[in-house]
Amino acid sequence: MRDTISAVVPCYNEEESLPFFYDEIVRVAKEMETDAEFEFIFVNDGSKDKTIEVLRELRKKDTRVRYVSFSRNFGKEAAMYAGFKAAKGNLIVVLDADLQHPPKFIPEMYKGIKEEGYDCVATRRVKREGEPKLRTFFSMRFYSLINRMSDTEIMPGACDFRMMTRRMVDAVLEMSEANRFSKGIFSWVGFDTKWIPFENVARVAGETTWSFKKLLGYSIDGITAFSTTPLQVSSFLGILFCAVAFIFAVITVIKTLVFGEPVSGFPTIVCLILLLGGLQLLMIGILGEYLAKTYVETKKRPIYIVKETEEDVEI
Ligand code: UDP
Ligand code: MG
Repeated sequence: MRDTISAVVPCYNEEESLPFFYDEIVRVAKEMETDAEFEFIFVNDGSKDKTIEVLRELRKKDTRVRYVSFSRNFGKEAAMYAGFKAAKGNLIVVLDADLQHPPKFIPEMYKGIKEEGYDCVATRRVKREGEPKLRTFFSMRFYSLINRMSDTEIMPGACDFRMMTRRMVDAVLEMSEANRFSKGIFSWVGFDTKWIPFENVARVAGETTWSFKKLLGYSIDGITAFSTTPLQVSSFLGILFCAVAFIFAVITVIKTLVFGEPVSGFPTIVCLILLLGGLQLLMIGILGEYLAKTYVETKKRPIYIVKETEEDVEI
């Protein structure tokens, strides 16, 4: 039986990249014609440019093109979730619209699943050329930190670019949390993953929307979604400081008995008050992070809202 591959493509302001992307994926689909048929699921994540018009046109000339258009920008994670929900294929591949995830890898991924028996074939970036050194440094720190704090193993440099079986995607869909950290979710569901190394390529058109601040926020989301270690840090520090205070008290008592009681140590007190006050605020902040996430989750708001799909286009 021929396989159906659903290509899920999140798009945010990609009017310029989409035509290039479409040509490329169609070429790959043609190449794989004998093994599999394709459906292309574009998720328009509340783009402010003409992405939706490009998608409507594509749909008119090619019925393999399907799309889901959001009522506003919900973020790439939500876009992927919507794409998975819409996908009908027995194999699902996620890739960016800017050709940074070249469709030419799809046949190799397909082979990994069909011939080598993996459930998922994912890419990971090995070289980080063209990226600021400082960003690479922070990114490496992030991976080592999250892997030390979380039981879910996060592969350094893992990309969202991957092909998965229906089973795995259904498992991912079951994780309907609002705070979606895909790298963690893909790893948490398990299944056998084959990693293929992959080099950075520049965007074909348009601009990346990831600023340093956004990446930092993303890292914090990742850690709070897959680790509760930060919450335990305060207990650890509490015990540590109690122990220090106890030793300090003993020393003070002995010192007073032996040397009398001169009034000194004012700077020490100021430093200690600042240190402890700062630490307490930090710990309350960490509690707040988790509380805020819990608050959002308990509302059970939808992950995305659809405004239009390909079914709205008359052919
Ligand atoms: N994207 C999205 N919603 C967003 C931001 C990005 O769907 O809010 C899409 C974007 O159109 C692209 C992919 O996610 O297809 C990756 O985004 P980008 O190229 O900006 O990130 P980078 O490649 O720099 O990590
Ligand atoms: Mg990109």
